[in-house]
Amino acid sequence: MNRQKRTIAGLAAALALFSAALFGPTCGARAETPDDITAACSEYSPKFDELAAWLDARPSVSENQDEREAKLKLIDDALLYPEAKLMPCAADFLRRRMETFIADFEASTVSSGAVIWKLYNHTVIIQTPETAIAIDLIQGPGIVRTPREIIERIVARTDILLVTHHHGDHVDWDVWDMYLDAGKKVVVPEPARKEYRRRDELTVIRQGKIELPGALATVFPSYQKKDLCSSYLIKTKDGVSAMHLGDENNIMRLGSEWYRKIKPPMEIDVLIPNIWCPNLKPLLDYIKPALILPGHEHEIGHPVEGRRPYSYVYRVLRAVGLPYVVPAWGERVSVPAPLPR
Ligand SMILES: [Zn+2]
Ligand SMILES: [Zn+2]
Repeated sequence: MNRQKRTIAGLAAALALFSAALFGPTCGARAETPDDITAACSEYSPKFDELAAWLDARPSVSENQDEREAKLKLIDDALLYPEAKLMPCAADFLRRRMETFIADFEASTVSSGAVIWKLYNHTVIIQTPETAIAIDLIQGPGIVRTPREIIERIVARTDILLVTHHHGDHVDWDVWDMYLDAGKKVVVPEPARKEYRRRDELTVIRQGKIELPGALATVFPSYQKKDLCSSYLIKTKDGVSAMHLGDENNIMRLGSEWYRKIKPPMEIDVLIPNIWCPNLKPLLDYIKPALILPGHEHEIGHPVEGRRPYSYVYRVLRAVGLPYVVPAWGERVSVPAPLPR
């Protein structure tokens, strides 16, 4: 930047600060943001559209991996835009994906094994022949939200909500209310904050088992740094197993992590880790998945440096060296019983 440009930039910043001080945080400095967002969307919309159209054809999650990787990466730049959660083009993309998902979910019958749908961020829906389970179901950040009407239909078709921990990208009190209103359990690892008025109606389980129709959920106590987190293992009666790790990272418990107590290694079909998990590699010495289904990519409620684009997802999975699938938001992964290893 040359000296003149620096001076102009400095003046603009001073002016923005002055108007912010004068008019409060919603005016002044933020006034230009909608134009920036409009400009960003005019650049990114064609990429969202290309990916959405490709996904509308319901490609298999396990075939044509090179093509899938290239298509998913189309939206990396868009979702690394700092204000991605305010972008109408990102909101349209999520809504379109969720409309496709709910139609698929409502039309599906599972006669054996399980079907796992991957939703925004680290949410999954697991359907077995006898039960359907939601994990960390949220509406989403900013304007990038699963429509409430679709959330209501998810609540209607699932039997229980398992919550891994009390962080904002995994918790949605409106969604909890819907489950509780329907007389369905919301399971959490520790009591909710006092501000949640229905905290006494939650089911607090730090470690233990939850009986479900035709399936058993086991709760393993883990941590994200110092915060309590639950890892949930779902096992169906025909032998399919899936484990959702939440935001487990146990980074302050190196050497005494919960999974080191599991001997011999636990063989499961599908492991659903958060893709940024720093100790995924040591965990894999104890938990042997046939398939990895990553979550927590593109959490656009986080600052840019806390997000993980698809390029990162693929880099991590390649380094791990186990079979994996990378579904987009709203795609299904069918898990046969038994899953071939
Ligand atoms: Zn998270
Ligand atoms: Zn977290």
